[in-house]
Amino acid sequence: MPQANVESFELDHTAVKAPYVRKITVENGPAGDKITNFDLRLVQPNEEAIGMAGLHTIEHLLAGLLRTRLSGVIDCSPFGCQTGFHLITWGEQDNTEVAKALKSALEEIANDIEWADVPGTNIESCGNYKNHSLFSAKEWAKLILSRGISTDPFERQVI
Ligand SMILES: [Zn+2]
Repeated sequence: MPQANVESFELDHTAVKAPYVRKITVENGPAGDKITNFDLRLVQPNEEAIGMAGLHTIEHLLAGLLRTRLSGVIDCSPFGCQTGFHLITWGEQDNTEVAKALKSALEEIANDIEWADVPGTNIESCGNYKNHSLFSAKEWAKLILSRGISTDPFERQVI
């Protein structure tokens, strides 16, 4: 089998300056629909990694917080390298709008969210419900916000 060309593996991870929102691709479906795929990079690759419990809690929270701030959210899932998330949306969307929504969502996590607000934290609703940390999620959200979210992956253009 020939190797597929995956854009994310072409990115020079040593050249980026996190935190940032990067538009990876806009893809056209056979019926004419478009989807946009974003790289939400929260911490610097190969220098930091968000602990799994905090990343897991951020994942559960972003699932709701991004949907209330952006139209057409299909999925937001963590990278295995634990440095950020893929966000996939319907339509052709703007990375500045996504960066603003991400900033606002992280502000809510840092300042307002309580444990009772975290969705899907029981055995029926999560595949590893014991592995959550709202404390870690809040500490990482504060650190990411203190650094600012850039709309350019290579030059700091903080919103
Ligand atoms: Zn879960």
